[in-house]
Amino acid sequence: MTSEPTAEVVDLCRDLLRIDTTNTGDNDTSVGERRAAEYVAEKLAEVGVESALHESAPGRANVVARIPGADPSRGALLVHGHLDVVPADADEWSVHPFSGELRDGYLWGRGAIDMKDFDAMVLAVVRHWQRTGVRPPRDIVLAYTADEEAGSDYGARFLVENHRGLFDGCTEAIGEVGGFSYSVNDSQRLYLIETAEKGIDWLRLHAKGRPGHGSMVHDDNAVTALAEAVARIGRHRFPVVVTDTVRAFLEEVSDLLGVELDPDDPETAIAKLGPIANIIGATIRNTANPTRLSAGYKDNVIPGRPPPPSTAAACPASPSCWNGSCASWSARTSRSSTSSGSRPWRPPSTATWSRPCPRRCAPRIRARVRCRTCSPAAPTPRRSRSSASAASGSPRCGCPPI
Ligand SMILES: [Zn+2]
Repeated sequence: MTSEPTAEVVDLCRDLLRIDTTNTGDNDTSVGERRAAEYVAEKLAEVGVESALHESAPGRANVVARIPGADPSRGALLVHGHLDVVPADADEWSVHPFSGELRDGYLWGRGAIDMKDFDAMVLAVVRHWQRTGVRPPRDIVLAYTADEEAGSDYGARFLVENHRGLFDGCTEAIGEVGGFSYSVNDSQRLYLIETAEKGIDWLRLHAKGRPGHGSMVHDDNAVTALAEAVARIGRHRFPVVVTDTVRAFLEEVSDLLGVELDPDDPETAIAKLGPIANIIGATIRNTANPTRLSAGYKDNVIPGRPPPPSTAAACPASPSCWNGSCASWSARTSRSSTSSGSRPWRPPSTATWSRPCPRRCAPRIRARVRCRTCSPAAPTPRRSRSSASAASGSPRCGCPPI
């Protein structure tokens, strides 16, 4: 039957994959979101679903529709997916990331599992409903958003702040990561339910040393200090914290796999999960990954202050504990890299890293840390020479100086 959602879902997904919706985090270089939103609106309109495009900035569009349910007294269900994707370098791919190529029974492309697959599935089901006269039991609000991959300022946040009424009556929401399945064995496949998002904090580390000529003996090289700090961050393993939902997941998978998985030894257990070990492994501890690095301006010159790298870090258990950690961490990094006479930087102890955030969100330390949890409006960090001078002035977040 041509009206079956499965008959067209691959085509819908392939069409979406072929629309390059790369979100670079910069409006000048991000592309395609409006085109993708228009495509979705067109596919909804074909079956009589009226939708509206909400453009938050030129080219950055969201599309929202409401499908009336049979029982208006029930709360509406929000079903949402994002249309943007992270950048993809075609040289690193065996197929072109925006070709939507079908190969070996799989559809390939940037966004195929994050999350144009889900976008297409929802679209296919809704079109099927419309064609066959199915009315959902309650209102369904569809939202296809921009900018999920870079903070959602032009997507979900824009809609909530500027078009809150679109979500009137919504009592539940379903979104990412739909369609992301895990095959336990040849006959059993799990569809995971995400119960929370990891918190995230972007760090930008700066180091300061003594500039000099690259050919000389030099004991205060900012590049060396920064590289050492970044390497330690990248290798650091945070303490394990098993939340109730992760524990329940491990117990459930243990039963399904028919193997001994000890939730009290989650690392051993998770290593047995195969392809999803990296995903589940990130739910039991904070993770930190350096993502960008740059330094210097000439091959034979030691710079005094290399440009900063960014370190992406996320916290599954408690965003607040991360902020407490990074403040301490960055302060130590800064000290070691700015004075040749100071103690070498060491990773903080476990106790320090896992300490609940004492609201020390580091607006006063030399290393720049944006603390969104304690203070979304935290001022740009100042470079203070002493804690006494740091104590003057009051950060908007009310955090004590470090
Ligand atoms: Zn996603």
